Amino acid sequence: MRLFETIADLREWLLEQRRSGHSIGFVPTMGALHLGHLSLVRAAEAAGDVSVVSIFVNPTQFNDPEDLRRYPRTPERDATLLQEAGCRALFRPDVEEIYPPGQDLTVRLDFGPLTEVMEGQYRPGHFQGMVTVVKRLLDIVQPQRLYMGQKDFQQLTIVRAMLQRLAIPVELVACPTVREPDGLAMSSRNERLTPEMRAAAPALFRALAAAREGCLAGMAIAQIRPMAMRILKDAGLRPEYFELVDGCTLLPVEDPSTCPFLVACAAAWAGDVRLIDNLIVKET
Ligand code: AMP
Repeated sequence: MRLFETIADLREWLLEQRRSGHSIGFVPTMGALHLGHLSLVRAAEAAGDVSVVSIFVNPTQFNDPEDLRRYPRTPERDATLLQEAGCRALFRPDVEEIYPPGQDLTVRLDFGPLTEVMEGQYRPGHFQGMVTVVKRLLDIVQPQRLYMGQKDFQQLTIVRAMLQRLAIPVELVACPTVREPDGLAMSSRNERLTPEMRAAAPALFRALAAAREGCLAGMAIAQIRPMAMRILKDAGLRPEYFELVDGCTLLPVEDPSTCPFLVACAAAWAGDVRLIDNLIVKET
């Protein structure tokens, strides 16, 4: 695996890869890697792409400076894991490389409700920062395929909208959420859970699974949300939202029978760690 810290060096290598007829599969991450991230690398390699992973803890997508400061950073371990997973190139730029001082590279697009609901409501500015860094990284790497996790469902939906809006010629590949055996979605933030909160955290998945069961059994949404909230609270989590949304518009769904793509999405605090997760209820 090659390690690059500058755009110029990465670009030179990418050019060689393209000249040799290889397609590039890009996996943007913020590091503190786990099996969820590695599944994206494996998906890229299995599709025949040369996998390029970026590790960049993007300051512009953190609305809370404390969250940015406490975000786990494990660079040596990450490099070892990537090497073992068959990753071909790791791009690990510093902040000035991505955001050259004095240049405003902010992507200002209006995505309407997509960026206003759920995470948008609780993390103002988060999606503008995320879209900006994904666009910047795509401009640098210019991959054929972009691999992202369904774990961040709203993020995936917004990136899909950005690719369409800006006519960026990249195929977005959505990969399934990788979970711990007890259902907890793998996340870099899980490392910060206390043992007590680690034990409570799988309630997030249980609440989503119960909502899915309820929906499929014909329960009314007015009953499902309080039931899910109860599961979260009884476990000692502090829910921020629990929504059943249309998977395309991300707007709340009143009547599940009228919605072909229905997704349950939730965010909850486990102590001082904020967890998000989602489950597709139906996709027809
Ligand atoms: P992050 O480092 O958290 O910004 O995530 C980088 C990429 O990995 C994003 O596309 C995430 O959706 C994806 N990802 C994070 N956790 C998981 C998981 N448990 N399963 C699958 N993909 C994931």
